Amino acid sequence: MYLIQHNRLREIGIKIFEQLGASKEEAEIVANHLVESNLVGHDSHGVVRIPEYVGRIIGKPILKIEAPPIKLKAKIKVIRETPTTALIDGDWGFGQVVARRAMEIAIKKAKDYQVGLVAARNCDHVGRAGEFPLMASEQDMIGALFVKTVPVMAPVGGRGRVIGNNPISIAIPANDGKPILLDFAMSVAAGGKIIMAIEKGENIPEGWIIDSEGNPSTNPKDYINGGALLPFARHKGYALSVIVEVLGGILSGVGALADYKGINTFLAMAIDIEAFIPLKEFKEKVDKLIRDIKSAQRIGVEEILLPGEPELKTKERRIKEGIPIPEKTWNDIVEIARKLKVKI
Ligand code: NAD
Repeated sequence: MYLIQHNRLREIGIKIFEQLGASKEEAEIVANHLVESNLVGHDSHGVVRIPEYVGRIIGKPILKIEAPPIKLKAKIKVIRETPTTALIDGDWGFGQVVARRAMEIAIKKAKDYQVGLVAARNCDHVGRAGEFPLMASEQDMIGALFVKTVPVMAPVGGRGRVIGNNPISIAIPANDGKPILLDFAMSVAAGGKIIMAIEKGENIPEGWIIDSEGNPSTNPKDYINGGALLPFARHKGYALSVIVEVLGGILSGVGALADYKGINTFLAMAIDIEAFIPLKEFKEKVDKLIRDIKSAQRIGVEEILLPGEPELKTKERRIKEGIPIPEKTWNDIVEIARKLKVKI
């Protein structure tokens, strides 16, 4: 394991994507996103994705997913619009670039008309869903993102990759500057965490996946070899995933399950709080909610955390100490940089 400073990783990421032909803006958005995911502790959505994204740009994908390559300098278009809604076509660009554009549109609509809902189709991997609702909470709005993924999860009672693990993220602004941030997939663990276990040569906990025959497995390679992720809380994670197939997939016009031959498609949402109650009152009540939860009787923990807090704590630590990068991930990045004549 290596410890690398975030600024150094960001610089390498930007240069790699620019060298491949991405615009400066695209390269910065994607590299910032990957490094931020590492900083907040979601390494599965960090720079480990660089080889995968590079493969998808040059038309040599590492993952066997039926989807067009990532298009650089993509022309994102609004194809349908009302004062409060929009449907956008991402032109198969980087998911992070399309998701930021969708959230910007949703926020603008919420500023003008109290609510903004933007569905997006034809985009690549949006990565860590939590980045985008935070754009709304930073502007004192409630933000949400519902992301349809490729089928990777078994339905309750079934086997095989039937449905997406469809992450949901919701950000709520609070007074002290630390928003509440829910951000997780509908599977027990995100698929990227299985990939990270393979990178590190580790087994995974029981209950994360089943193999191609439907048997429980702790070998992450069983997931790659035709296995499937399992939904969290059985029918609850599964049911939420069904809903996201509709909100993120059918509503954007691409369909559900394997009908969509792409990586992600989503629904972004921004809500103006002042349309309901004064912002000051809202934030005071959210602060009280946080205080009341934190003062509950603790069982075996030093502190009760709110959603979003573990990530902020990890970020504080990793900014100081550096980001731990597995040797294989670092070697893969160095090899890509070498081929592209990017100096490290
Ligand atoms: P996870 O199981 O690690 O859960 C993370 C969430 O739980 C965060 O909101 C975090 O703040 C909260 N949390 C964790 N511990 C907590 C505690 N003790 N108290 C309160 N809250 C706590 O997440 P995951 O399902 O493994 O997903 C990881 C990442 O992968 C997410 O960013 C998700 O958006 C991303 N993802 C992306 C895709 C895609 O296709 N783009 C697919 C799946 C997942």
